[in-house]
Amino acid sequence: MSGRMPLMAGNWKMYFTVGEAVALLEELKGGISRFDDREVVVAPPFTALSAVASALAGSPIRLAAQNCHWESQGAYTGEIAPAMLKDLGCRYVIVGHSERRQYFGETDGSINRKMVALLALEIVPILCVGETLEQRQAGETLRILADQLTGAFEGLKDEEVGRVVLAYEPVWAIGTGHTATPEQAQEAHAFIRDRLADRFNNEVANGIRILYGGSVKPENVDTLMAQPDIDGALVGGASLKSASFVRIVDFVG
Ligand code: PEP
Repeated sequence: MSGRMPLMAGNWKMYFTVGEAVALLEELKGGISRFDDREVVVAPPFTALSAVASALAGSPIRLAAQNCHWESQGAYTGEIAPAMLKDLGCRYVIVGHSERRQYFGETDGSINRKMVALLALEIVPILCVGETLEQRQAGETLRILADQLTGAFEGLKDEEVGRVVLAYEPVWAIGTGHTATPEQAQEAHAFIRDRLADRFNNEVANGIRILYGGSVKPENVDTLMAQPDIDGALVGGASLKSASFVRIVDFVG
């Protein structure tokens, strides 16, 4: 037993009106029963955070945002500051999702600034790293992961890194239906943990939770979660329906 509490997170991306988001949340509240040995997180779009936060009152399900800005306030039209998310009850914020790196110009530098800002407010970043298909085929997977970790953790203290949740999300597996095999995922997770031990310390490396993300479904969650270094899942498509997300949260392993 690793002693790391599994964390199952649903990333609702740019789906759902406020009413739809609250309706899904109500279904999850009715469907998920196992909270003693796993943590459950949902990441609705910004517009639904407030309503979902209210609907979560009294539930162990925790709230995440999908992104933030690094400044605490200012003339940044369209952006959301970490303190605003904390004010709504967000315990987690997803940082560096590949869709943000790919479509919105997010870089290791901007990701690092977000990490610093979130940690300063005691919000837990869920930091996403992962290689593209071209990078995997070129044998560059581990180097890419190492570079992304170095960039995101630049200047952070061991104690701060220890508070982060990581998500290994191979870009070629996100939304494609092509899940990494449990062996591919385990190799990447073990590599990440080794890097953290080298760069920081064993306590950080052994304590940090590393989620797998990329076409996690009810049919593959159990074998993924059986891997020793997989501590949870970051789920996109299959978190949009209560039945599939409830089954994922109820993984057996
Ligand atoms: C994601 O958005 O982080 C993700 C893993 O999506 P999907 O589960 O749809 O591949």
